[in-house]
Formats: sequence, structure tokens, C-alpha cells
Amino acid sequence: MPGGPLEEAISAPRPAAGGAFLTLPFVGPHYVTSIFDHCSPNYVPDGLVCRYDGLTKLAGGFDETGPPSQAWLFYDGHDGLDYGLYYENVVAAADGRVVYADWNRPGCATCGYGQEVRIDHGNGITTRYAHLSKILVGDGQQVRRGQVIGISGNTGASTGEHLHFGAYLTAGFIPLDPYGWSGDGADPWAHDVGNLWQGGAPRYAAVAMPAVQVSINALDGNRFAVGWKGVGGGAYDIEVIEDQRLARNWETSVGEGGATFSAEPGHSYWFLVTVRNDLGWTATASSAAVAVGAGLNS
Ligand SMILES: [Zn+2]
Repeated sequence: MPGGPLEEAISAPRPAAGGAFLTLPFVGPHYVTSIFDHCSPNYVPDGLVCRYDGLTKLAGGFDETGPPSQAWLFYDGHDGLDYGLYYENVVAAADGRVVYADWNRPGCATCGYGQEVRIDHGNGITTRYAHLSKILVGDGQQVRRGQVIGISGNTGASTGEHLHFGAYLTAGFIPLDPYGWSGDGADPWAHDVGNLWQGGAPRYAAVAMPAVQVSINALDGNRFAVGWKGVGGGAYDIEVIEDQRLARNWETSVGEGGATFSAEPGHSYWFLVTVRNDLGWTATASSAAVAVGAGLNS
């Protein structure tokens, strides 16, 4: 869903609010697809859409000067930011405690924010991650900055895959623009508390991505030594793929190491290893294929 400005974590820092603490709710470049409307961030349309830098547009894209595909950037009454994610990892924008992890309106898959997670950061601000296809955390769980909390999607009142990200004053759940206000004159939304991006600019959380390597060596007879190792630790799942079609779990949630596999004559095998680190990020790798009596082949 390109068309909006690309948020790629390289914009120059601007003056930050005291205690600015947020990092982006995803990792990797993604487009902004709808901005926070400083003129009415309460879903009560007032005909104007006002961006954090002071740019003001008539709602509905009527005076949109860019291509029509950008009209949706200016969403009258929007109380957060939309980003062009499909089915991708959504991460906590700071440490905190999950205070909601459910459908926005339980029982209705097409209502409101759909499946959402809210995180209370303990500093008077709560963040929301909405329209998720999958929730990976539970109510009351402590989470860390950069931790995968769900998979983005298209649930709730949503017409295409995206992530809705919002920041709110915990007291009263009053919406805030994480980008603050840099326009001329006073911020039309007097509740705003300034630029909340840590260091003054939206950046990705410093996540150490996992990596994994797989080895396989013939032992005697029909036995093979399969080994797996990675960087940064984590839990490993090992699947065996038999005859290029049937996959089944062999080892689940084990540490770095290895095991001996006994092959059945007349079948071929290879191994798929997935490691998941403590922030929920995964990496996968596969072994060479082997068959009994045929030795290693790739
Ligand atoms: Zn939205």
C-alpha cells in the first residue's frame, strides 16, 4: 500500500518531549498510510485534517494535491497513525504491561479496532496496536521494547491490511500524536504532550535478530547426527521433512545442540530448524537432504 511517506527511521531528530520514550511499532521501512488528525482526533469529522507539521487539508481528499492514492492519508478524525503492514510482526513501542489483548468489541470481527493489544507503559501513557490478525501476548503480561506482540492484519473496521498505532493518556484514554506538533502556532489538539519518539525521531527498537545454522553428518548404518546452533540463544523447533512432502515435529522448544536421527530405508529426509528468541523474533534454516545408503547429497 505505498503512497504515503515512507517511515524508514532516518528522519532528523526534532526537539523531544521530556521523557520521550517510544520506538516504532515495527522493524523495517513501512509507509505511513494515515496521519493523526490534530483538528479532531476523536472520530467526529470536522471537515479538516491537520498534520503534526501544520499542513491542513480539507477532508475527503478534495484538495489533495498529490495522487488520488494519497487521499486516505488525510482521514478526518483519525486518533492514531496507520502504517502499511500486511501480515507482519508488530512490536511493543516501549517496555510495559499488557492491559488489553482481545477483540475491540468481543463477538464482532468487523467492529472498531478489531483484535487489539494495549500496553500501559507506567508513565501515564498507554499505546494501542490494532487490526491484528493474531495476538501473541496475554492480559497482564510484561513486555519489552521490540518484543513481538502480534501479527498485523485486517480485523475490525478496516478496508485493507494495516497497523493502527495509537498513544493515549492512560487517564481518560485521550489520544496523543507520537510525532507531537511542529506547526506554526498552537497545537490544535491541546492534550498533546509533544514529540514522544525516543531521541526525538522515530527509530526501530534495537532488536538483536536471531540466526541459526543446521548441520547433518552420516554416522554408521542408517543414523545421522543433526546439529543446530545460533546466535543470541532462544528456543529451537526441529521439523523433519520426509520424501519432500510430509513434515512433522521432531524436537520442540529445545536448546542449542543436536540429536541422532534414525532413517528408514528407502526414504529421504531434510531438517527445518526454527529458532525463536526471547523477544519473539524467529529465524529458520534447513539442512542438506539425506537418504539411507546414499550418503549426503544436496
Ligand atoms: Zn487507524
